[in-house]
Amino acid sequence: LGSSLRGTLDKLRGKSRLSEEDIEEIVKEIQRSLLSADVDVSLVMELSDNIKERSLEEEPPAGTPARDFVLSIVYEELVALIGESTELPLEEQTILLAGLQGSGKTTSAAKMAWWFSTKGLRPAVIQTDTFRPGAYDQAKEMTQRAEVDFYGNPDAEDPVEIARKGLEETSEADVHIVDTAGRHALEDDLIDEIEQIEGVVEPDTSLLVLDAAIGQGAKDQAQQFDESIGIDGVVITKLDGTAKGGGALTAVDQTDSSIAFLGTGEEVQDIERFEPDGFISRLLGMGDLGQLTERVERAMQQTEMDEEDWEPEDMLQGQFTLNDMQKQMEAMNNMGPLDQVMDMIPGFGGGIKDQLPDDAMDVTQERMRTFSVIMDSMTDAEKEYPKAIGANQIERIARGSGTEEEKVRELLQQYKMMEKTIKQFQGMGSEQEMQRMMK
Ligand code: GDP
Ligand code: MG
Repeated sequence: LGSSLRGTLDKLRGKSRLSEEDIEEIVKEIQRSLLSADVDVSLVMELSDNIKERSLEEEPPAGTPARDFVLSIVYEELVALIGESTELPLEEQTILLAGLQGSGKTTSAAKMAWWFSTKGLRPAVIQTDTFRPGAYDQAKEMTQRAEVDFYGNPDAEDPVEIARKGLEETSEADVHIVDTAGRHALEDDLIDEIEQIEGVVEPDTSLLVLDAAIGQGAKDQAQQFDESIGIDGVVITKLDGTAKGGGALTAVDQTDSSIAFLGTGEEVQDIERFEPDGFISRLLGMGDLGQLTERVERAMQQTEMDEEDWEPEDMLQGQFTLNDMQKQMEAMNNMGPLDQVMDMIPGFGGGIKDQLPDDAMDVTQERMRTFSVIMDSMTDAEKEYPKAIGANQIERIARGSGTEEEKVRELLQQYKMMEKTIKQFQGMGSEQEMQRMMK
């Protein structure tokens, strides 16, 4: 799965511009990866629509391969869906665990207690499961291994009473983690029971514990538990297996919550606080997506800074290259049409520009976009010395940018006209004007 996504992406390596078909292909592979990671179908569709739309509309920052740009969009969209990890302040609090039998609640309770103990807090686990015969012993043994406080009562029958008593008996602890019973399915008595426990415990945070292998069933569970006790976050267990935990996304989406912890083994130390980066990379079967996104973001900021740094006067210094033209076109996006930009240059407003051919000023937004696409497929050398661009290069650039050779020629034509204009400007006024300004 991940490997076919990587294959598709590798094919696109080095392209500075992706065609609509390229983007379709990437989005298809991402859909495939997400579906096989158990992400809900309608979520996958929603995600891929957003990814497609943004990939087609947004401009990659200069120098960023289009493939990296699309991946950063994929990452951002997934982060937007999953969010940062569930907020858990390192202070006194009560946490209630909910979930089906075997999802990993008891194990997670001990693991979380261990995790809080490493943060210098004093946690206690309260075991309220009277349903499963071995529940008390299991919880007791695990909390011993975690070296944290524990309360349970193998002889008591009322889980609500155990919860009440447990909070009293462990009053010296500052973090209370209340474990509950599960069932094979969502039965009414289970829901009633957990609602009553919730009423007594009044948790600060209620977490839904889900097995990473859960698929489409995540939605119903999340909905029912959310309606009965309100779910603030999700714990995904058994991520040390082959399952990727995509069902948790459904739960997060359904409950409008986030992910708190990941379980990665059977030992009490096998727990991680959720981080979107690693989780998303794993979901897609790709490494380092977060880092890549950071890099693209930095490039984006750099482009913005470069644009701010550019002054219309720069056009008049030295050789006018395609790089200048591109910068100038980008700047015009912010500043307005070329003739207005000319007005901003000291000494060149008013009458002088009227002597220039109209065509030199005529770069519509539409053409600017096309030109920008074409220039992204040129090498730096070509942009610095456009006169050396011959028929072979024109063919290559057209192919690389997914445009026609005719358009590339048009761009070069426009460049020549602008260069001539700029030269005229340089000849016309600059000398005397500069002298006047320096006085
Ligand atoms: P509960 O019924 O929800 O309390 O689930 P348990 O905590 O009893 O866990 C059910 C089974 O899953 C046990 O055999 C656990 O050892 C196992 N388990 C729980 N979490 C993990 C995990 O993160 N990784 C692995 N490999 N096994 C886990
Ligand atoms: Mg249990």
